Amino acid sequence: MGEPSNLLLKLSRRLFNEERDRAAFVEALINPQPFPAAIVWMQPRPEVLPFAIAPPLPWQPPWVDRLSSDQRPGQHDLHQAGAYYCLDMASVFSAAVFGAIATPSESVLDLCAAPGGKSLLAWKALTPEHLWCNEVVRKRVRILISNLKRCGLTDSLVFNLDPQTFAEQLPHTASVVVVDAPCSGQSLLAKGDQALGCFHPVNIKKNASRQKRILASATQTVAGGGYLAYMTCTFSLEENEQVVEWLIKKFPQFEAVEVPALADHASPLAAFPCYRLWPQSGLGAGGFTALLHNKATSTEPINLDFLTAKGMQIYSIERSP
Ligand code: SAM
Repeated sequence: MGEPSNLLLKLSRRLFNEERDRAAFVEALINPQPFPAAIVWMQPRPEVLPFAIAPPLPWQPPWVDRLSSDQRPGQHDLHQAGAYYCLDMASVFSAAVFGAIATPSESVLDLCAAPGGKSLLAWKALTPEHLWCNEVVRKRVRILISNLKRCGLTDSLVFNLDPQTFAEQLPHTASVVVVDAPCSGQSLLAKGDQALGCFHPVNIKKNASRQKRILASATQTVAGGGYLAYMTCTFSLEENEQVVEWLIKKFPQFEAVEVPALADHASPLAAFPCYRLWPQSGLGAGGFTALLHNKATSTEPINLDFLTAKGMQIYSIERSP
């Protein structure tokens, strides 16, 4: 077992009042334990499952299975055949906010989409007529396209643009905008992965500024009456509750709304609804999620010229890259 850094200990003191909660949080990050994987069924769920599963959690949709720890779903033929997508339960937790949105949604825009987990979860939960998946980092677009294609989401459009472009070209258009933001990635430690400098204040501040930039564009893209889902896989207040607080203040047409399925995970660190999964829960590496409703009414028609010019159609890409 490693030694916790002073910055991690400091964070634990800001997150928890009780010493035993702080100790459990720190222990989960410095002594990582394996978490069970989850699969999202993209094809009808077979009656006889090929994997041993764990009991479902209250916020787990019926088309997700939580697997027992010893299962290796990525190595099964059904995976290659696109029957399901593998991800971790922390992603399922974050995407549980979609369950509080009335369906079907006309259009979903995922602004930070690669490798595609939240896009697939949004598509399953919201059954949108249009799914627009954007990834600003060019070299990550390939894996996004490959996953969407393997899972049969060939009607979705893929973009490689800065989020600001959507604010300009699709203002007040998307029924739901998803921002699964780049962050300091502190929860990676709970999975045994590296996250260099993840507790450093400079890194946290840089990420918080980037998150606010992305969200400012997202707020301009959500249609009147639509939703903005914001999520991260980190624990610092500056990248989570404080970002949502900033957003509500700067864009008062947005309000954070309750997600009943996540009631047991309400963050004690905010005066508005938002939700946290802690790494010491044993359910997943951890994360933060919030759902914001746009109370404004202005909605613009879909800019088809922009979609045609900039959207990559998966079915016309000949080979999976
Ligand atoms: N949503 C993905 C999923 O569930 O599979 C994971 C997204 S990951 C947490 C964040 C993504 O944001 C990365 O793919 C990263 O390349 C992208 N990103 C980085 N900087 C960005 C920026 N300035 N604007 C938008 N996206 C950015």
